[in-house]
Amino acid sequence: MRSDEGVRFATIWLSGCAGCHMSFLDQDELLLELAKKVLVVYSPLVDEKEFPDEVDVTIVEGAVGNEEQLALIRKARASTGILISMGDCAVTGNVTALRNAWENGDEAVLRRAYLELVETAPQIPNEVPALLKKAYPLHEVVKVDYFIPGCPPDASRINYVLTELLEGREPEMEGRSKFG
Ligand code: SF4
Repeated sequence: MRSDEGVRFATIWLSGCAGCHMSFLDQDELLLELAKKVLVVYSPLVDEKEFPDEVDVTIVEGAVGNEEQLALIRKARASTGILISMGDCAVTGNVTALRNAWENGDEAVLRRAYLELVETAPQIPNEVPALLKKAYPLHEVVKVDYFIPGCPPDASRINYVLTELLEGREPEMEGRSKFG
């Protein structure tokens, strides 16, 4: 998995609140150990616009909620060796999937956000990516290799999974896996 420049590593932020990425950053000084082993090739934490080819490990926050995210996660899956679902939104849909309770949840969300709650010039924007009919947990859209549940997952749990994988070991999630 590792090249001369380190393991090619990416993080993706889909429909989530950024809490999972905050938890990722909460690894604190352990991030320095991680940084010795990886080359970050794509992330909201770096200024890279296109998901690259040949990525070893990608960790993903959030459910798949719109067309742009669907295209990104498909590209990421095609280009990534190990894909990790990070946090309850990615693993189950969680908060993001609350709109799935309505038959036309995509329209209901847009109407509530851009028409009903807006006092000045209410209008539904057409410049933003179209919402999917439903918000999907990652594994309903692409194959997922590892799951780290939690809202957000503990930094220690994220660090454990990444450390094990980077050392070529299988993470053992029994007793470490927890929703909410
Ligand atoms: S799992 Fe929780 S912390 Fe992570 S993106 Fe979803 S709501 Fe935010």
